[in-house]
Amino acid sequence: MRPIIKRDWPTDAAGAKIQFNGWGEVKPYLIDNTGLFCHFCEMKLDNTPAVEHVKPKALKHSPNLQNHWANLMLICDYCNSRKTKAQIKLYDYYWPHKNNTFKALNMDMTGIIKVNDGLVSPQLDKAENIIELYGLDKTSDTAGGMDARLRARLEAMSKAINRLLEYQAGQATVQAIVDNASSSGFWSVWFRMFKNHPVVLNALLNDFHFRGTATACFDAANNYTPQDRNAADL
Ligand SMILES: [Zn+2]
Repeated sequence: MRPIIKRDWPTDAAGAKIQFNGWGEVKPYLIDNTGLFCHFCEMKLDNTPAVEHVKPKALKHSPNLQNHWANLMLICDYCNSRKTKAQIKLYDYYWPHKNNTFKALNMDMTGIIKVNDGLVSPQLDKAENIIELYGLDKTSDTAGGMDARLRARLEAMSKAINRLLEYQAGQATVQAIVDNASSSGFWSVWFRMFKNHPVVLNALLNDFHFRGTATACFDAANNYTPQDRNAADL
């Protein structure tokens, strides 16, 4: 899961917080912030993404969360439909705008999302909880077909492998790779595939389409190795 930087609440020309009359009004600011990708599964989104309320908007005791900038994320329909409406404690989960979720999660060779090796409780629990909350490791949908996110992730993996082979043969430019990555989505797939090529990693970290990536989560002096985002946690 790509770690992102969620900017402060958008302000108007006078510097005052913009008051949103509906969460749909927040979309352009979220897109401007991090590009058109699901904040959770990293799927490429169309121009009308859904907005996720991290804390459910229907809760009686928290009506102010409906249009609250800090509570809103970009989400695909597939992650959105997996999420339950139950109350959650934010601290029980790793979040892409708060933690180094790239370091917390990994995927196996079949494209299935899993907890990164070596995590122990309570880090292990937080990583498992975010996978569970959005069903990120699902292989099939409710109708029995392949999970659409897994299918798209496998397609991105296939493209990334082909570009890697071309790059190693001197046949693909860095820009072509990043363009392919941004059009297919799944930043983490591409970042893992090119782990031995820091020039490409640097380009992926700083590409405009993938804007808002939390670059400090990766040690530039050490081949962009993932590093903890917070002193006491991932
Ligand atoms: Zn998603």
